[in-house]
Amino acid sequence: MINRLKISTKARVDFRDITGDIRALVESSGVKHGLCHVFVPHTTAGVTINEHADPSVVQDIAVQLDDLIPQSGKFRHMEGNSPAHIKSTLTGNSTTIFIEDSRLVLGTWQGIFLCEFDGPRNRNVLVKITSD
Ligand code: ZN
Repeated sequence: MINRLKISTKARVDFRDITGDIRALVESSGVKHGLCHVFVPHTTAGVTINEHADPSVVQDIAVQLDDLIPQSGKFRHMEGNSPAHIKSTLTGNSTTIFIEDSRLVLGTWQGIFLCEFDGPRNRNVLVKITSD
């Protein structure tokens, strides 16, 4: 079974902390030991794991990505959202987290973020939880 989270993003670039949502899915799955696969089925969004204790960290990542891939760059794609496509490729569209003793195995400061690069929009995050 694939679980689907529906996440509304609030700005053109918006990193939404989805750790709690994913944790809740793992808890309700009843899986004690296994894997949690997270997949974002969009070409202008992504997923990443990084610090969620200090919100400045993802703000810094967003600002630096904007500096790296400016909106005003020369792009062939006529839709006007090439920077979002490129950032999606940089963050990637999936991640996998181990499950041990019914808990996500994340580092102390780590959280899971849906990365919006062409918002605000309604996004889907697909989560598949498998047992060992
Ligand atoms: Zn496009």
